[in-house]
Amino acid sequence: MSALLEITNAKIIYDSAVEAVRDVSLSVDEGRVVALLGSNGAGKSTLLKAITGGLEFEEGVLEKGSVRYGGQDLAGRPTEWIVRNGLALVPEGRRLFINLTVEENLVMGAHLKSAPEMRRMKEEVFDLFPRLYERRSQISGYLSGGEQQMVAVGRALMSQPRLLALDEPSLGLAPLVIDAIYDTIGRMRDELKMTILLVEQNAVQAMGLADYVYIMENGRIVLDGPAQTMRNNADVQEYYLGMA
Ligand code: ATP
Repeated sequence: MSALLEITNAKIIYDSAVEAVRDVSLSVDEGRVVALLGSNGAGKSTLLKAITGGLEFEEGVLEKGSVRYGGQDLAGRPTEWIVRNGLALVPEGRRLFINLTVEENLVMGAHLKSAPEMRRMKEEVFDLFPRLYERRSQISGYLSGGEQQMVAVGRALMSQPRLLALDEPSLGLAPLVIDAIYDTIGRMRDELKMTILLVEQNAVQAMGLADYVYIMENGRIVLDGPAQTMRNNADVQEYYLGMA
């Protein structure tokens, strides 16, 4: 199996000083769900931004190493290229257009698509999230947190991504809503055969769904392995899954 995303020995620094990511290697194979776990400030979002926003973002810069996507180096690629080549990010905090309706938000995700494609994708998203169909004419800012997260995921799906990166999809949501979101991510993997990079602090949910897991602390990958192996690891059980 070939890796769709391949990060090799990446070092990312902010303001030439803070080393947010140190010597990280990670790969995501086509058709797999890979979870990147770690606590606050571990460097997960920085790594994601480097992938989905090009390698120079805000004050951050990839100082060493490489990020390859579909066999091509991402260095120097504008965001436009990244989007056109099927990399979609659902950012932490969702960033919806809160004054637009659910349907208008979804359409924004498919602005590069033809009208028939757009209709087909909308049907697919409404099939995955029946709740969004019911709420399609409502202003997004008035939706619950869980519904807003669904809109954010749906909007990313509208671009028919080859790789979908989700930054903490369960953040701030109630347990039942998290279950619903995770059920849908499971369907995206099983029915749409999507490749997903799932960044989470919520290890229990993410590990239940992922094929492969990386754990990041202080900018480094401290442990990685197939999800099954990781779930049986005593340290993982104690420190990340809260099982004493
Ligand atoms: P969270 O779950 O809180 O998003 P994270 O694992 O995603 O945490 P990052 O947000 O990547 O972690 O942060 C990694 C480190 O980089 C932290 O020490 C953080 O303070 C620092 N950092 C993040 N963004 C910037 C920035 N724009 N400028 C300087 N330092 C930053």
